[in-house]
Amino acid sequence: MSEFVDGWILGDILGEGAYGEVRLVVNKSTGEAVAMKMVDLGKHPDARNTVRKETTIHRMLSNPYIIQYFGQRSESNIEYIFLEYASGGELFDRIEPDVGMPIEEARKYFRQLIIAVEYLHSRGVAHRDLKPENLLLDANDNLKVSDFGLATVYRLHGKERYLNKKCGTLPYVAPEVLERPYHAEPADIWSCGIILIALLAGELPWDQASKNCSEYSAWKNNSYHYLTPWKKLDRLSLLLLKKILVHVPSVRSSLYDIKKHDWYNTGFYTDVESCNKPALENTQLNNIKEQAFCFSQPELPPVGISLTNMKFEERTGLSFSQPASVENLLVSSQLQAINTQASQNTFQNLVRRMTRCFASTSCEDTVKIITQCLVKKNYHYRVNNFGIITISTVDKRKMPLVFKINIIDMDNKTLIDFRLSKGCGIEFKKEFVKIKTLLNHILLTSNNI
Ligand code: ATP
Repeated sequence: MSEFVDGWILGDILGEGAYGEVRLVVNKSTGEAVAMKMVDLGKHPDARNTVRKETTIHRMLSNPYIIQYFGQRSESNIEYIFLEYASGGELFDRIEPDVGMPIEEARKYFRQLIIAVEYLHSRGVAHRDLKPENLLLDANDNLKVSDFGLATVYRLHGKERYLNKKCGTLPYVAPEVLERPYHAEPADIWSCGIILIALLAGELPWDQASKNCSEYSAWKNNSYHYLTPWKKLDRLSLLLLKKILVHVPSVRSSLYDIKKHDWYNTGFYTDVESCNKPALENTQLNNIKEQAFCFSQPELPPVGISLTNMKFEERTGLSFSQPASVENLLVSSQLQAINTQASQNTFQNLVRRMTRCFASTSCEDTVKIITQCLVKKNYHYRVNNFGIITISTVDKRKMPLVFKINIIDMDNKTLIDFRLSKGCGIEFKKEFVKIKTLLNHILLTSNNI
């Protein structure tokens, strides 16, 4: 494993963003861990303004349900952004496709989301890309809003402005965002409503909230009752969603209304609410102008296909060791002191992540078996020299879906790790389930892992 700066080693790849990877960085002696988002400005010169805006906003935020920003450093055209490490993975990983999750779990995450959004709005910040893929979980299973790449300041010195930029992820975007201009708060609240459906039903209700989308028209016209996902929901959940997913933003429930709703307050426990205190006193946000954003991520670089001579052991940064202890961390003079959580049991997280499984076959054989399955099912894929398989397909909405399968040797077992690179998290999960079913004959059950 390579050393990033004195005393800090590069760890696991945590995910892939639009402009580069997010990696774990671990302190060699203390085991402290932080997430490091890398943006290659050489490859993506257009990302400079986005990064500047993202970090300017993110550094102002401090809330238990928002990923903490720690600092930033620039080195030869690469921007490194240091963030609190969310060791529990992504919320969408807890959503079973077409099923969702138990309502009590959904309620807990939804409450935490509402508290985070309420905090953001109290700071005059709109997130503008709320979706399960941007909601991470910490070691204690608490939700952490992340990815402020599309966030903007809509209220400064008490003065609110309309927003004009059409941005976000289409199925989560409020109808008025497609028409513009729009008010920031109701648009974020709409996305929370769509997230709630994803949590409760494991699917999204429509491709986009516009009049030429039949599923959305059915909802608007009250003729949705026998349609999915609505028919899967209980009466109270539906009542709440009826108030959130209101076409006209001024009639849509506010966060205050949502917090008063019976659904929200069922089995309410006060510890969630007690965290709802803005931690920053000073609202000195810079005068930030809206930047141009795009909906899609860059295409994958070309990778040579080779099933022979795969160099599994040469891959850098794949570490599954358990950090020993955690103290404060300073990566560089630009990085502020960090307090990270002590218990970051990587192995435990491997098990909790739904898009991972273990095989009894060797790495090489596993790659061969997976690729045979992919060929049989007509998937378009590439394999690089390290045995990482990249699959490019489209989802049911004909939107691009790109994901990677990483095959990792772990003490006589082979870990098959699926990661989303581009596209809808829920659709990715469905593909994962399909491929996993094809691999059943080589997979280890939880009893023999
Ligand atoms: P997008 O393409 O969605 O805009 P991005 O470039 O903004 O992505 P992020 O969404 O911030 O990048 O990060 C990409 C992925 O990296 C996440 O989906 C998540 O899996 C992982 N990740 C990001 N931040 C963290 C973190 N703080 N802790 C753990 N994992 C993280």
